[in-house]
Amino acid sequence: MLPDTPFLDEAPDFGSFYANDYLMYRKNRQDLDYAEGHPSHNWDHYRRVLQAFRTETDINAIRYLGAMLHYVEDSCPISHICLPGTYQGKWHGPLESLIHTNGYSIAGYQPRLLGEDEEGMLRGIFARLNVVGVSARERWARIKPLVDAGGDKNRLMDRLDPIILEQAYDTSRLTADVLFTLFTWADKHKGNDGGQLTGTVTASHIPLLDGLGAKVYLVDAATRVATDYETLTEPLPDALSGELWKGRFAFRNLPDGVYLVCANRTASRPVVSDPVVVKRGAAVDIALSLKESEPAGNLVENPDGGFEIYLSGSPDRWRDRSLVAWGGRTNRYWRSSFVRMQTGTVYRCGASLKDPHTKVQFCLFDKPWEMKGLYPLTLSEGQRSGETKVLPTAGCYKMVVEVLADKPLTNVIEKVWVVPEKQLRKMRGE
Ligand SMILES: [Zn+2]
Repeated sequence: MLPDTPFLDEAPDFGSFYANDYLMYRKNRQDLDYAEGHPSHNWDHYRRVLQAFRTETDINAIRYLGAMLHYVEDSCPISHICLPGTYQGKWHGPLESLIHTNGYSIAGYQPRLLGEDEEGMLRGIFARLNVVGVSARERWARIKPLVDAGGDKNRLMDRLDPIILEQAYDTSRLTADVLFTLFTWADKHKGNDGGQLTGTVTASHIPLLDGLGAKVYLVDAATRVATDYETLTEPLPDALSGELWKGRFAFRNLPDGVYLVCANRTASRPVVSDPVVVKRGAAVDIALSLKESEPAGNLVENPDGGFEIYLSGSPDRWRDRSLVAWGGRTNRYWRSSFVRMQTGTVYRCGASLKDPHTKVQFCLFDKPWEMKGLYPLTLSEGQRSGETKVLPTAGCYKMVVEVLADKPLTNVIEKVWVVPEKQLRKMRGE
């Protein structure tokens, strides 16, 4: 299961991909850095998993499935289904956590097929979620009088635990059913009945983060609008040792069409291919070569805001509002997606501005939601470009860049950067 935020734990990320690569996609652009699990998103999510099983590699499909399982499981706790607002603060955590987990197992459970075809399967999953919801309400009706009566918290939790355990077992069995259903379906769609498009992507190495893949998007060549088809490369065996990083991507079962293939990777500039004709029964292989970012080794994704793959005016990997738990500020600002940091490394953090009144700041985090240090960029009168050095303090593992402005991002910045100084030199053998 993927967490609903990147970098949820102190283990900073997943090494070979960003959670954002699977939390956000064209129909789910808003879920940058945080996947809000409300039901209207769920349909898109299930369909996205099916699409991945049909058109992408297994590893990509499994990661989309990992994101979806979070939605499934997050739809099941009593705390998320029916706990009234007045009880949320004190009881949200306890009512979704078990005390006695020894011996917890659904071994021997025979998973059920929730549907055969795409629509039947989706209906089946939602019908089961509704059943779990009904049970959650019944269980809350048994829990509420106990909670209202109060008394010793430990003794109370011991009485609540068996009821929470019932809900947990329902969740596990539903998860098993969902997996069984999706894998059964995926098995039927593992062949290729449409167009096949594969390719190699080469790019500069990323200092400290070279395991990350390149994201590949298909754009309709006639309308220049992004399609739903996107995927992540897998590294070639010599990806890390050669002069350039190399990865492969593969699509199958694509509808006939003329596509532009767009690739993007951290520390490189995005590239768009010439039009590529995809036809049922035919296989096309292309090569895409990404140029190094300027400055080299820049860990900020989409550092100039110019990459707007899903929607014009919506720079990829930036958001213009706070995450739910980070509120409290009223000024409008652009926030980059997370940059993974490493203690003991000095980072050059800088910006060059189109609008000299724009403020840029670099925010360090040592916990998923709480900022630890704020490093504003100070420029003297008339100066439009500059940088500051940041040495992450102990435990700090991620940073975001904030651009305080209520205008389009590309109107106010030329670009921003975060570059790990020493590692970049080491990478280039200096
Ligand atoms: Zn919760």
